[in-house]
Amino acid sequence: MYTKFYFCRNGFIKYMQVNLLETPIEYLKGVGPKKAEIFKKEFDIFLFHDLLHYYPYRYVDKSQIHTVRSIEAEGGFMQFKGKITSYEILGERQAKRLSAQFTDDTGTLELVWFNSLKWVENILAEKREFIVFGKPSLFNNSWNIAHPELLDPEKQSNSGVSMAFQPLYSSTEKAKKSGLDSRSISKMVITLLNQARDIITERLSEEVIEKYKLLSLREALVNIHYPASQDLLSKAILRLKFDELFFVQLHMLTQKQIHTQRNSGHLFATVGDTLNIYYKNYLPFELTNSQKRVIKEIRADVGSGKQMNRLLQGDVGSGKTITALLVMLIAKDNGYQSCIMAPTEILAQQHFDSITKLVKDMPVKVCFLAGSTKTAQRRVLFEELQNGKIDILIGTHALLENNVIFSNLGLVVIDEQHRFGVEQRAKMWKKNNIPPHILVMTATPIPRTLALTLYGDLDVSVIDELPKGRKPIVTRHLFEKNRLGMFGFMQKEIAAGRQIFVVYPLIKESEKMDLFDLMAGYDLMADCFPNPQYQIGIVHGKMKTQEKDFVMNRFMKGEIHILLSTTVIEVGIDVPNASVMVIENAERFGLSQLHQLRGRVGRGAEQSYCLLMTKHELTSESKQRLKALVGTNDGFEIANIDLRMRGPGDLQGTRQSGELDFKLADLAKDEKLVVFTRNLAKKILEEDSELLLPKNLLMRKYLHEIIKKQQFYGNIS
Ligand code: ADP
Ligand code: MG
Repeated sequence: MYTKFYFCRNGFIKYMQVNLLETPIEYLKGVGPKKAEIFKKEFDIFLFHDLLHYYPYRYVDKSQIHTVRSIEAEGGFMQFKGKITSYEILGERQAKRLSAQFTDDTGTLELVWFNSLKWVENILAEKREFIVFGKPSLFNNSWNIAHPELLDPEKQSNSGVSMAFQPLYSSTEKAKKSGLDSRSISKMVITLLNQARDIITERLSEEVIEKYKLLSLREALVNIHYPASQDLLSKAILRLKFDELFFVQLHMLTQKQIHTQRNSGHLFATVGDTLNIYYKNYLPFELTNSQKRVIKEIRADVGSGKQMNRLLQGDVGSGKTITALLVMLIAKDNGYQSCIMAPTEILAQQHFDSITKLVKDMPVKVCFLAGSTKTAQRRVLFEELQNGKIDILIGTHALLENNVIFSNLGLVVIDEQHRFGVEQRAKMWKKNNIPPHILVMTATPIPRTLALTLYGDLDVSVIDELPKGRKPIVTRHLFEKNRLGMFGFMQKEIAAGRQIFVVYPLIKESEKMDLFDLMAGYDLMADCFPNPQYQIGIVHGKMKTQEKDFVMNRFMKGEIHILLSTTVIEVGIDVPNASVMVIENAERFGLSQLHQLRGRVGRGAEQSYCLLMTKHELTSESKQRLKALVGTNDGFEIANIDLRMRGPGDLQGTRQSGELDFKLADLAKDEKLVVFTRNLAKKILEEDSELLLPKNLLMRKYLHEIIKKQQFYGNIS
């Protein structure tokens, strides 16, 4: 804490007590209001604290002095110690330059400057002994360095930090123009470290730090910016990664603890007529063993008297819907209502349609609520919801609204969880005095590290088997030159009675252009698949729901052979007769998204195909993605590859959630540390569930800061 004085326009002095690290960045020496703006806009740096945690992306090794003779290749930065034997200004006007001869007894280098000549000349006029730092390059068979840095070997660094490794900070064009390049950022960091290093407070317990030989937070922060050695840099990185992961785990586990320990849940004690009759008479197929196992796991939860918070993972088409439905029927048997919440209206609508169909012969009332639901309809719906007439409510975020009041909500099913955050789950818990059981379903399998991190507060069930009789989808990567062959193949499939999806990318920023792609695609298809022999339909996000439904319905009834669409189809429909999924410009889709799209076919008994059409030149990343998809049908494997390639930030739209905002930790690479920190957090909480022991107080304090920040993000997202 320190006291800050402000001079106001009216001459008064205002003051307040602030933690120095909470000071707006503008007040750091050398920053000021203009650069502060850039800091905010370009780097999200608002406070001293943010700059302290703006880590370098690379370091230039200045810990060693090389000899001129030892220079072998161009490319790297090197440092030499020696003297300047002579210098002169050469050339005229534009070509004017200052050339100096530098020697260190093993050899000679030419140092060249093309600007600031006067300034350099002044320096050279005063001194001759220097440490020279720069990138040697070969010119006319001799080594030279353009614009080297000149350091005074006698002047000990008085910056208070080690200069052995020079940090490089990423910057943007715009920031550079305003004078915020890596070099000036690094100077500001020095200023900040000198001012703030003594008030950096620890947040791990002494016990943990000692036991695992971690650096203190202070040492770690100093060394991440200005490492005194390679070893300290590694230790600094480890310490900071440790914190990132450990506190997420601590947060998740306290969260989990809160709802299992304090929240007794609804007891679904019996299995009654609704489930039994349905199971015996109306279940359209036999459940897979995975489905049966998962239902058992869920029944154990809901029959325990504690609130369930469970994540149900299952690949596309593994049959999560029926699994959830059976649990909802158990809820009804025990006098409870259920709801399903989906991230988009289309997906919610699809759930509504399929569940309505599944229970059409049962006395189960299913209703739909989304943003588009009309006021008059809502009025009726809200009333029926409150007096318990509705058994299952299916909808979008609209379900979270305050005026959606259940008479006795016992179970909440959330589909496609990744688009909902912890905060939203919490909102659902509050819908009842006793919080309902929560079943979160995700179609994209999540790698273990990510599951532990993102959904660490949930128990996990997995459906790891597809319904019987499904043949693995054959996936091929095709180019424009294969197009005629592909059309021929499509004709054959249609002749055999099958239907085909063709998907074009839709990326928000260029919706218009993408629509054009779709239309151009239509022209081409219409030429090759002439009416009336072939029926082609189009759906895209810009169409009215009614028009879309009309086309979809025709496709489902088999009246349309080829359905051209944008990605609205991704979360869309279930048409077992569709056996071919063509993805145009497949290079423009993410891996998980491609896998999701592919999951639209292969739902019937026929052999299905996924054809990935791309342009010829591809980035190596695109090639990798396509290769992965051709190589495997296993959603878990795909998810792992995706995580490795893209990092968790981009995965499944998690970026908005703000929960995985790691600066250093990498969920794909740091699996061991994730598991380690989780186990440690568990152990600590087992001993001291509320972190009230004196030794744990620091951790408790920081945890609360994190939670406060998350609530803030929760509120603005
Ligand atoms: P997802 O897990 O992707 O949500 P769905 O629940 O939509 O998958 O199921 C995909 C398809 O598989 C649906 O047509 C569904 O009726 C069918 N299905 C689900 N379980 C089984 C099963 N045990 N046997 C046969 N078909 C099943
Ligand atoms: Mg589904």
